[in-house]
Amino acid sequence: MNVTVPHDVVRRLRALGVVKTDEPLSRHTTFKTGGPADVLVVPSGVVPLGEIVRICAESGLPRTVIGGGSNLLVGDRGIRGITVCVSTDAFGRAVPVVEGDIVEVPASVRKDDFVSICAEKGLSGMEFMAGIPGCIGGGIVMNAGTVDGNFVDILDRIEFVDVRGEVKHRDVTPSMARYRHLDMEEGAIVTAGRFRLRRADDDGAVRRRIRELLDERAKKHPLDYPSAGSVFKNPEGHSSWKLVNDAGLKGHRIGGAMVSELHTNFIVNAGGARSADIRELIEFIREKVYITFGVMLEPEVRLVGEF
Ligand SMILES: Cc1cc2nc3c(=O)[nH]c(=O)nc-3n(C[C@H](O)[C@H](O)[C@H](O)COP(=O)(O)OP(=O)(O)OC[C@H]3O[C@@H](n4cnc5c(N)ncnc54)[C@H](O)[C@@H]3O)c2cc1C
Repeated sequence: MNVTVPHDVVRRLRALGVVKTDEPLSRHTTFKTGGPADVLVVPSGVVPLGEIVRICAESGLPRTVIGGGSNLLVGDRGIRGITVCVSTDAFGRAVPVVEGDIVEVPASVRKDDFVSICAEKGLSGMEFMAGIPGCIGGGIVMNAGTVDGNFVDILDRIEFVDVRGEVKHRDVTPSMARYRHLDMEEGAIVTAGRFRLRRADDDGAVRRRIRELLDERAKKHPLDYPSAGSVFKNPEGHSSWKLVNDAGLKGHRIGGAMVSELHTNFIVNAGGARSADIRELIEFIREKVYITFGVMLEPEVRLVGEF
């Protein structure tokens, strides 16, 4: 056991959600890698989450937040302290509430579920999210998106728990967003988002567009392998996949980690990869692209825990 969290803290957490000790994070990441969380807690709601934040602060234990784990590279030695998982239905309230063209969504809802529910209700504007894995909370924090749109384009307001465990709201404005980033209070945990969509003139057209986007993704992305999507942000004026491709790295392997042959901005777990293999490959690519083109790639994937 790797647990550094005192028993009385674990006992208090058990009253506030589902708690697992020494939980392999490879079960919670789309790379299917990552060592154990000392303690993983899925809060049973927003108020319990506030209490969990207070317990972490009082006990001085480190706290890490994960959503669907689709943009994370977790170290092979895992995460010390308390990992708060804002994902799955255990979080509660996991159903979007639709009123006219306004949709309130708990952070734990999967993006695909959000897209389907909105399409069923005849709403439009969220189609770009089709096929982006993970949860709404992770999408908000990352300002996730594609060439068709980003979270900030339709996000109106967020609900979050601050570092003192208080529930707060904040209106979202375009100036708060950058490429794969939304400005938020330090240490905030997003618990819900309010989205402003449009009533579709033609529901069938919305469903067709979603289908088209899913088909395009299935052709362009190596979905048969575990990955975390695009590994690097696109530098100004460049496409990362092209830089990696033109540096001759298509199919390059370190251990079980491989640059995808289908999309060279994806690193895939080609079988038995450790997070250390993936991290080493990331560093190798950055060095090779820098030496070849003078461009330093910045990872989009977030590295957490001990490697
Ligand atoms: C096959 C594939 C395709 C992808 N395609 C795209 C794409 O087209 N566009 C795109 O933008 N991304 C894409 N991604 C990356 C990823 O799906 C998105 O970034 C996604 O929004 C991350 O959500 P998540 O819930 O998985 O967050 P996680 O990966 O769990 O976390 C990401 C970050 O957000 C923080 N976080 C998560 N939830 C919360 C919360 N509730 N409160 C505070 N902080 C939180 C975490 O601490 C971490 O720093 C892809 C990934 C895969 C595997």
